[in-house]
Amino acid sequence: MKKKWLYFPVMAAFILLSGCDNPRESPGASALVLEGRTMGTFWRVSLANVDASRQEKLQKAVQSLLDSDDQELSTWKKDSVISRFNQYRGSEPQPVSDNMADIVTMALRIGQKTAGKMDITVGPLVNLWGFGPVKQPKATPTQAEIEAARALTGLRHLRVIQRSEGAYLQKDLPDLYVDLSTMGEGFATDHLARLMEKEGINNYLVSVGGAVLTRGHNAEGKAWKVAIQKPTDKENAVQALVDLQGHGISTSGSYRNYYELNGKRISHIIDPTTGEPIQHKLVSATVIATTALEADGWDTGLMVLGEEKAKALALREHLAVYLIAKQGDSFTSWMSPQFKAFILPEKP
Ligand code: FAD
Repeated sequence: MKKKWLYFPVMAAFILLSGCDNPRESPGASALVLEGRTMGTFWRVSLANVDASRQEKLQKAVQSLLDSDDQELSTWKKDSVISRFNQYRGSEPQPVSDNMADIVTMALRIGQKTAGKMDITVGPLVNLWGFGPVKQPKATPTQAEIEAARALTGLRHLRVIQRSEGAYLQKDLPDLYVDLSTMGEGFATDHLARLMEKEGINNYLVSVGGAVLTRGHNAEGKAWKVAIQKPTDKENAVQALVDLQGHGISTSGSYRNYYELNGKRISHIIDPTTGEPIQHKLVSATVIATTALEADGWDTGLMVLGEEKAKALALREHLAVYLIAKQGDSFTSWMSPQFKAFILPEKP
């Protein structure tokens, strides 16, 4: 068996999309860059026109906010809110925060629109294939193992209940395992943006893993530029540049987070219908949406759907989508009309 992680998986999301802002390029401009780690990946906040004396306080505020999101959403932490819900064996509604209710509500909506391909209950299959907190398998899972894990999944087993006193999550399958890995980074990115607004900061680029949101302008007074990475593990080249104009962006890709088992590439994106990692030629889906949370939900759903169905859904739902597919040894790209509005004309 040959096993290969080409990159530490959570690094992958970070280099998939990266801000092209670079304060070192504009000496004298007032710019501040804060960085750190969360959710097994990196976060970054770039600010324009913010006094350096605020750096320490802002760094602490960002880290503390992300630590608290992590404590709520992480399936990698046994005592997180979502892990406790997963460990709960009953079917009584469990009280949750508005944040959690918002994420799950968005996930269920996108799940329904993608015909169940984006499925946050896919956790048992993610773990079976070795992409969650559980170790990688030493051999390809058997059909019986896949079916057993698949029997524990299904969005129909999960619901959000809104009552006057607060929000609740309810499941009707004791072993249901909710995995928010696909949307947590987007949620945290939006959360960082709200923190900046609260701090009276209007010009920022915030990112957690592969989710990014920008507002205002960079330290040079120009639009923040965000790069869409070329889908290859060999280079770090830019495929396209976008100006997000206050939106969130997220990319899901099958080309960096994978390992090889018995000569076969095993992607971290699982098709809930087959219970197996996707195999088709769509290698990345990038979505721009009002929030990074929404973008982060759609990108995975589109990846699972594959090129043709993803295009049809993007057009039907008027989504801003950029797809890259493998064609022999090269790549082809496609963008929806809504995405074109964000593309910067300059050559990367
Ligand atoms: P995306 O494409 O956005 O999502 C893919 C991920 O979603 C898969 O890896 C899988 O988990 C899940 N998934 C697969 N198929 C589907 C599907 N059909 N529908 C829905 N979801 C699917 N990683 C660590 O190594 N250590 C940690 O401590 C850690 N903590 C984390 C804490 C939180 C709160 C979150 C949200 C994630 C954490 N991660 C951790 C995971 C990691 O940082 C990334 O979120 C993960 O690798 C996927 O992000 P992505 O953007 O690469 O992929």
